[in-house]
Amino acid sequence: MQTNNTQPTKPDLKSLTLPELASYLTTLGEKPYRAKQIYEWLHKKQATDFAQMTNLSKELRARLHQHTRLTILTPIEIQTSRLDGTKKYLFALPDGNMIESVLMRYKHGNSVCISSQAGCRMACRFCASTIGGLVRSLEPSEMLEQIYRIGQDIGERISNVVVMGMGEPLDNLENLIRLIELLTDPNGLGISQRNITVSTCGLVPKMRELADRKLAITLALSLHAPTQEKRRMLMPVADTYALSEVMEACDYYFAQTGRRMTFEYSLIHGINDTPEDAGQLCELLGHKNCHVNLIPVNPVKERAYTQPDETITFDFKNKLEKNKINVTIRRELGRDIDGACGQLRKKYGKEHSGGPVAAGCGGEGS
Ligand code: SAH
Repeated sequence: MQTNNTQPTKPDLKSLTLPELASYLTTLGEKPYRAKQIYEWLHKKQATDFAQMTNLSKELRARLHQHTRLTILTPIEIQTSRLDGTKKYLFALPDGNMIESVLMRYKHGNSVCISSQAGCRMACRFCASTIGGLVRSLEPSEMLEQIYRIGQDIGERISNVVVMGMGEPLDNLENLIRLIELLTDPNGLGISQRNITVSTCGLVPKMRELADRKLAITLALSLHAPTQEKRRMLMPVADTYALSEVMEACDYYFAQTGRRMTFEYSLIHGINDTPEDAGQLCELLGHKNCHVNLIPVNPVKERAYTQPDETITFDFKNKLEKNKINVTIRRELGRDIDGACGQLRKKYGKEHSGGPVAAGCGGEGS
């Protein structure tokens, strides 16, 4: 497991799989069957205190308290969109860093967009979340907790998880895979792999590593430009991994998992929204079994980027459709609370005391 130097070295109970928990308990001289009881307290009942684990002896609870960590996130602020009921949560991590998560309500269920890192080091030019760089990666428990606390807040089941908040999930791959394992375990929330989407800016070796795991999750690639030249202007990661390599990694992902890729494309007026761009995108994607999400770029005040008007947006979409590419224009949820893609930022530093702060992002394909 990837851990952070600033964290104490006691085992983080909520980041352990059931077999790992069982073997840890044997080191404490406990019977392994206790693991299932504890696991259910952590992941099904989502206990916030060892004292709640009433089917364990007081002695065992005291030992767990002494020897392990029970990671809990504290909600600091919850904002609700007046436009669409989207909720944005500011959470404090155990070390005082802050992250954000977004709840989106759809007809098909409740979807939570989680952050995978506090901050981000990918430096995409149109994204507010990257301003200030990376603080640290989140532990599996800290990613899970965003989902657990939101589920408890609304008192409803969370059916979908999108890892599209702040951070680059594949820059925290080991913990991401562990998160998926914990999230899909029927002894916990039991969310189906098919209901999990992970979005990446295109870290090629990590995409291939993820493909080799042969999971049934959806992988979304943040494409945003149809050519290497243009992509480099928007996404510094393209200097490291050329578009051709990224597209090969997408093909590899599909070959290994049979899962259709999603491509995210932020439409930025005058930058990547011309008919020529649409034509080049058709050439790039025409032969692929894929889905394209067009996201009119969300405003970020430090950036001069603006959205195209509706005509340009629909012309772009139509051109793709004429070329038999599946495409949707993503609904922008939570824009009035800065909860939409790329709008979240380190803006809480002044209002809230404590250490470095960071944010996440929301908005799922509709
Ligand atoms: N690091 C991951 C996930 C985080 S961002 C990634 O790059 O995919 C989730 C999505 O929002 C990405 O597609 C990202 O490129 C997009 N995004 C970032 N800023 C945006 C903005 N201002 N407007 C619209 N989409 C944005």
